Amino acid sequence: MKTVTVIGGGVSGLQAGVFTAKAGEDTLVLDTGESLVKNTSNIKNLIGQDSIAGNELLKKGKDKLERFNGELKEEKVEKVERTDEGLKVTTSEDEYMTEYVVVASAGNLDFLELDVEFEDGAEGPYMMDKHLKTDDSNKACENVYAAGLANSWEYQTSIAIGDGAKAAVNLLSDLRDEPYTDHDT
Ligand SMILES: Cc1cc2nc3c(=O)[nH]c(=O)nc-3n(C[C@H](O)[C@H](O)[C@H](O)COP(=O)(O)OP(=O)(O)OC[C@H]3O[C@@H](n4cnc5c(N)ncnc54)[C@H](O)[C@@H]3O)c2cc1C
Repeated sequence: MKTVTVIGGGVSGLQAGVFTAKAGEDTLVLDTGESLVKNTSNIKNLIGQDSIAGNELLKKGKDKLERFNGELKEEKVEKVERTDEGLKVTTSEDEYMTEYVVVASAGNLDFLELDVEFEDGAEGPYMMDKHLKTDDSNKACENVYAAGLANSWEYQTSIAIGDGAKAAVNLLSDLRDEPYTDHDT
């Protein structure tokens, strides 16, 4: 049984996975390698960076995930359902039982066979048709959180990164039954 399975290894999913892996939780990220950030070779609006290419940002995120013992698998998620034993994630290759799921797959949400609600996406180029409806803690339903464009129309890398962190911090707070903070000294 995994503790956390993140669906989508783009910027929001990698950031969520880095937080839960760094917290010592058994973390699996499943990804099809099609992050929208790969479309840009020149992200200039992130603090801490003059400019960074999308591919380089993703590589740094994957390296960091692995450094904290998180696992990334290139598998397409086809179904997520609730069972008596926990959440079951079915991919093109395998099945995984997991306590928590973070949905970070941008507009791809049709694999969710859960008691979740959706809201319409915003109009405009590149916008998603729909997003998961979540509460203030990014929770979509019991033990299921959403991050990035799966959760919001707000189309910026820094917002997706922050939203991944937010989903993870709230998930970890729920898991540990107390407010979770991650302060390096
Ligand atoms: C042309 C273009 C240029 C951009 N330029 C900038 C810029 O200059 N600055 C900026 O701040 N932002 C930019 N962005 C926006 C940025 O790319 C997004 O805001 C960001 O990627 C959203 O992060 P995310 O994690 O929600 O989605 P993504 O990063 O797209 O990650 C979603 C991941 O989920 C995976 N996935 C989907 N379905 C499944 C499935 N069924 N199973 C497993 N994995 C799945 C995908 O392969 C993907 O890796 C640009 C976007 C585009 C399209």
